[in-house]
Amino acid sequence: MTAVLNPPPATLAEASDEFLQTALEEAELPALLCALAHATGDLSLLEGSVRPTGGPLGALVPMQGGMSVEAQKEARRRILHTLRRLRDTEVTPLDLTAPSVLRELLTFVTGPVDDSYVPLMAHELGLPRDAGEPQWNVHDTRPGAKLRAAVIGAGMSGMVMAHRLRQIGADVVVFEKNDDVGGTWLENVYPGCRLDTTNFGYSYSFAQVADWPQQYSPGPAILRYFQRVANDLDLRQVVRFNTEVNRLEYDEQAGTWAVTTRANGTTETIESDIVVSAVGQLNQPNIPGIEGLDGFDGPVVHTARWDSSVDFTDKRVVVIGTGASAFQAIPHLAESASHTTVLQRTPPWMLPAPDYQTAIPQGLGWLLQNVPHYHRWYRFQQFWMTVEGRRHYVTVDPAWESPVSVSAQNEELRLALEGYLHEQFADRPDLLPHVIPDYPPGAKRMLRDDGTWARTLKRDDVDLVVERIDRIEANGVRTTDGALHEADVIVLGTGFRASEFLSPMTVVGRGGVELREAGGTDVRAYLGVTIPGFPNLFCLYGPNTNLVVNGSIVLFSELGTEYIIGCLRMLTERGAQAMEVAPAVFEAYNQRIDEANALMAWGASGVNSWYKSASGRVSQNWPLTVVDYWEMTHDVRPEHYMFSTQSGSSSEGHQQSPGSGAPRAARGVER
Ligand code: NAP
Repeated sequence: MTAVLNPPPATLAEASDEFLQTALEEAELPALLCALAHATGDLSLLEGSVRPTGGPLGALVPMQGGMSVEAQKEARRRILHTLRRLRDTEVTPLDLTAPSVLRELLTFVTGPVDDSYVPLMAHELGLPRDAGEPQWNVHDTRPGAKLRAAVIGAGMSGMVMAHRLRQIGADVVVFEKNDDVGGTWLENVYPGCRLDTTNFGYSYSFAQVADWPQQYSPGPAILRYFQRVANDLDLRQVVRFNTEVNRLEYDEQAGTWAVTTRANGTTETIESDIVVSAVGQLNQPNIPGIEGLDGFDGPVVHTARWDSSVDFTDKRVVVIGTGASAFQAIPHLAESASHTTVLQRTPPWMLPAPDYQTAIPQGLGWLLQNVPHYHRWYRFQQFWMTVEGRRHYVTVDPAWESPVSVSAQNEELRLALEGYLHEQFADRPDLLPHVIPDYPPGAKRMLRDDGTWARTLKRDDVDLVVERIDRIEANGVRTTDGALHEADVIVLGTGFRASEFLSPMTVVGRGGVELREAGGTDVRAYLGVTIPGFPNLFCLYGPNTNLVVNGSIVLFSELGTEYIIGCLRMLTERGAQAMEVAPAVFEAYNQRIDEANALMAWGASGVNSWYKSASGRVSQNWPLTVVDYWEMTHDVRPEHYMFSTQSGSSSEGHQQSPGSGAPRAARGVER
């Protein structure tokens, strides 16, 4: 902001025209126009030249929705005038319960869209109300009805599940192995850990906040957000902290789960009607089986189990891996180490993000916090850009033949990203062959970069080593060319055992069958949520629900949760004890997922990634659109499930027409 006011005005009422004008220089205009039309009831604000042009996402996010400079000038003129009106006069906000009004505002940001998108859009805006809030209650459904629910994990997914379960009046207990909420954000405290997707979208639709410090906030800020939500929703009272679940066993006679936990050295088993696993995919660190690791004569620290007592100052540090975690940690480690060796097996593709590590500008931050609902419209705009996101760039054209790209569009993206690397390493052509990936963009996770990576690798005290590791010795890492890379500390940025779903728990389902026995190396689930043979066991962020180039994991966890709540409604209303997904439905679904994954860059490319299980199946990623998941999880279809009563008798769900199942919740907008 050119004329910083310190402190800035506390409210809009105290803001001078001059301050508003200056703040506006930093505003994201399309969302602000919408917020003001909403706040003042003046839809004429959205007319004419100020309409965003939108269009699919390229390598970079388009500024101001693609508005021309003239259109931006006009938008600022209208906004200033309207902010003054809002400050100085009585105004009447728009009534968003009118579907046509809501649609008009939503489509100002998105451009023309199919009607099927509108309910999802309203869900994400969180207005006129929380569309995911269940419209039923266990106790009202059947006299004396009771539902005991055990949730495993108080991270991002477990918290939304606990919240919704409390809303339906379930008797809920959350088991959390750590001493606080936050999951991955509590555990990953390596230096430089931050969000690498835009922040406003990485928040619950029902708990949106206006005061994110950065577009890609540092880990502690994300953790504070989850802690704040836990406090605001009073979730801690249902969480048993420092309690690890190590066994789940289904009791076929009772139709209940025995949940065995361990806390403070004491083992306890409780009975629960349903279990929700919200343990995440990136939970169990991958410790590579490199020969000699145990014999290293210094600390070995995994990024996900950071040991803050290890001092890196003036130490020789060897880092194994250049995935998302190592990529964030290495620049910070290099600042304090005497020498840093980066052992890279496969280079990452990086999307340029100039604002990756910068604070939200003061003017924008002030507007987000002081213009009614601006932060919601801003979040919505970020959400919308990711709905289709860069999917079109990573979808396979079967006729395209190249080892480094999967379609003409993918090649276009590849060339843009390669161009970025050429710029970044222009003064170090010796590094270029090592930093340009030889696989298609999107086949592995693309990272965000503001130039820090190149600056770090170009440092005199940093070596990028691409030789394979042979073994680890007492004083360093020996590569296959015979070189010893001496180390005082080894950092493992080697990722997670992502495809080992629900590990390390032992999960025993119907007929005494263990989950990994049933699934082999590949645990699969219907919609990432339900698994045949495991009645009343539900998963969040389960198999094939990881998002790579479109959508948001938070949204998927919300949709998964709402789907589970719909299942519980069906279970309760039917007076059934248990429900289990029909094997045929499960198989057909997984076949569709596998076929679709084969047509995405990560499935078509042979490059190694955590998206795949040991068998090579893409076990993590969602290959379809966000709207597909929305539609597939919107209604629970009884014909997809088998229901059993307490006496053990089992029945298939009745055939019903699509959409006639229990709705997860009444929607803000009619479908
Ligand atoms: P990762 O992406 O799986 O990266 C692991 C790295 O270790 C890769 O470079 C891998 O090389 C290397 N590696 C593994 N075993 C090795 C071995 N035996 N020898 C040599 N190198 C080895 O793990 P991550 O970096 O922890 O990230 C995992 C995921 O966590 C990310 O993709 C992302 O979804 C999430 N994450 C998110 C954020 C965020 O900001 N939101 C931050 C960090 C992580 P290869 O590539 O050759 O396999």
